[in-house]
Amino acid sequence: MTSIKNKIDKLRKNILKYQYFYHTLDQSIVSDAEYDYLLHQLYNLESKNKELITLDSPTQKVGANLSNKFKKIKHFSPMLSLENTFDINGYLTFEKRIKKLINIERTMSLCCELKIDGIAISIIYEEGILVRAATRGDGFKGENVTANVRMIESIPLKLEGTDIPKRLEIRGEVFMLKSDFIKLNQKYNMNQNKSFSNPRNAAAGSLRHINPKITAKRKLRFSCYGCYFFAEDNQELTTHYKRLMKCLSWGLPVNKEIVLSSSYIEVIEFYKKFEKKRKSLEFDIDGIVIKVNSIELQNKLGFNTKSPRWAIAFKFFSAERITTLNDVKFQVGRTGSITPVAYFDPVYISGVMISKASLHNKSEIERLNLHVNDSVIICRSGDVIPKLLSVIQITRCNNAKKIIFPKFCPVCNTKLLENAEEKIIRCHAGLTCDAQKKKSLYHFFSKKSLYVIGLGPKIINELIQKGLVKNPIDFFYLKNFDLTKLQNVGNKKSINIINSIHECKKTTFKRFIYALGIPGVGETVSEKIANYFTKLDELMNADILKLNYIEGVGKIISNNIFNYFSIISNRDMVNELIIKVGIFWKDQDQYEFDMKKTYFFHKKIVLTGVFNSFSRMELKRILINLGAKILNNISQKTDCLIYGKNFGSKFFKAKNLNIKMINEEELKSLILLNSTK
Ligand code: NAD
Repeated sequence: MTSIKNKIDKLRKNILKYQYFYHTLDQSIVSDAEYDYLLHQLYNLESKNKELITLDSPTQKVGANLSNKFKKIKHFSPMLSLENTFDINGYLTFEKRIKKLINIERTMSLCCELKIDGIAISIIYEEGILVRAATRGDGFKGENVTANVRMIESIPLKLEGTDIPKRLEIRGEVFMLKSDFIKLNQKYNMNQNKSFSNPRNAAAGSLRHINPKITAKRKLRFSCYGCYFFAEDNQELTTHYKRLMKCLSWGLPVNKEIVLSSSYIEVIEFYKKFEKKRKSLEFDIDGIVIKVNSIELQNKLGFNTKSPRWAIAFKFFSAERITTLNDVKFQVGRTGSITPVAYFDPVYISGVMISKASLHNKSEIERLNLHVNDSVIICRSGDVIPKLLSVIQITRCNNAKKIIFPKFCPVCNTKLLENAEEKIIRCHAGLTCDAQKKKSLYHFFSKKSLYVIGLGPKIINELIQKGLVKNPIDFFYLKNFDLTKLQNVGNKKSINIINSIHECKKTTFKRFIYALGIPGVGETVSEKIANYFTKLDELMNADILKLNYIEGVGKIISNNIFNYFSIISNRDMVNELIIKVGIFWKDQDQYEFDMKKTYFFHKKIVLTGVFNSFSRMELKRILINLGAKILNNISQKTDCLIYGKNFGSKFFKAKNLNIKMINEEELKSLILLNSTK
């Protein structure tokens, strides 16, 4: 019991702190997702331990303590919060509950509105004249912000029109447009080196500024969502909707996106419409609000301690979700770099289910101070890449196991070394580390390297497992019967792969450099190196200074290249590949010059049908060597279609688009003509 009490105390203390920052100082020191999660935890613990509920618990009260900046005003009736839900079941439970409370089974009229994310205010009009305005405060007393509210252009100081009740209370949201928020922050940043974290905080800070002249400059907007008066002042306005429409006629701004609905289907439609549209709106919304339309029924339903029983906020999921961390695995990359990856209970964010996120490096692990079973906040960075944002420390168990970056390679157990400049921790075991071996060999024969068609990761893994290959050289000595031993490799496939291995010996200097897989040496750097050195020897014997001299090759990459060729086994392998295996390339300029002369150079080609003289793989290889780009589908951009027997729909599509077509006989003569160039 003491431990539950401690947990509750800890949660309350933190939630109250966050509330103080949010409501009193207009700052968010944690995200709304984290705040809502903690409050939910507290609700759960309190509902299971009712004897521990106290009146000052954040679950029992609205808002936060009031600041001393403004005089206090007692509300005529409490200004409460809203019950909220994030899913349809929560909404359906609400509907069922109210129907039971007012004892009706038929459909009832509900009013759906946008939940604008700003700050709530109450404005009192007497005889149509604005006499006072207050913030929500703690729900019973608010701050007197009359002078500030008078500065908001869209709030009329005097109402126009007919049937204005003697005393009228208007409730609504003061907010800021996203565009005005950006402009304000730019200005604010320049002058005071500070900024607001979102339009909601900017609106709250601007409304509650001690100097109303500043409020006037901040372009605040207002939207009315509630209207209260003594019934005898107007007997006609019997529904919430009618009242809002009347407010509009008196000159008060009311958001136009309101629908009356009679079934949950219409409520969901409204929710989905604005969930989709919310990003393109000019202001932030964090959900929709559904209210019982009849004022009589609203009065019957009444309130509970924190919210009216006749309304619910159906909130949108934030782009952040909270889940449980299950483990962190340390992956070994092709160049031995160790990347920590967090695995967590799957969460659905922006239409995608995600269950893992890269943690990049050791300093990220240290920054996050992760422990197994931690509650973690996940988002999709730039709306795409899964990212573990932070950890909710206060819900961590006492004996949780801390995640520590390993000292030894998780695959081959070699001691890991840190390159401080690169901020990367590596296993330097190279081809003797199984993880690196698989990835390096796949890289060596991949499309942008030496390109062997049909040699995918599955086949390479099996060849390694069977002990048939340890390094790139071994591939050039594979026999047909070695490959046919593998799963799903028949005689034809095996011959094709062996032919392709044979053909890949004729390559370019750039491809060969790239194939070596030196850390940091990607396609572009390989090209720069190939253009700089005329011979492989020069590259192998270059010192760091010389390497660093190449444009685009910085200190780190120069070091990596130098280190690579300083290792005897790497030099031996490169030499053997050239001298014994027979890998060769023409001088790059000459090669490109020759390529440009072929009919196929840079042509986008699609193949269809079966060919008598070539397998598909062979044909692809031949055409690629002649500079062609092979694509899978016909489009306007296709240069030509090469067709064999039993061609498919691509043939007709190409014909319709007037694309050049070549049959097998024409193809053979073109190949012959171009190969002899
Ligand atoms: P709430 O903001 O979820 O809902 C109530 C409010 O909705 C009302 O007071 C009103 O201002 C507003 N609203 C907007 N449109 C409305 C409409 N059409 N009809 C009626 N009301 C409408 O609840 P709350 O109690 O005001 O605040 C709690 C929320 O504030 C939390 O869920 C959290 O998201 C946020 N919060 C965040 C932090 C933080 O540190 N990040 C701290 C405290 C609160």
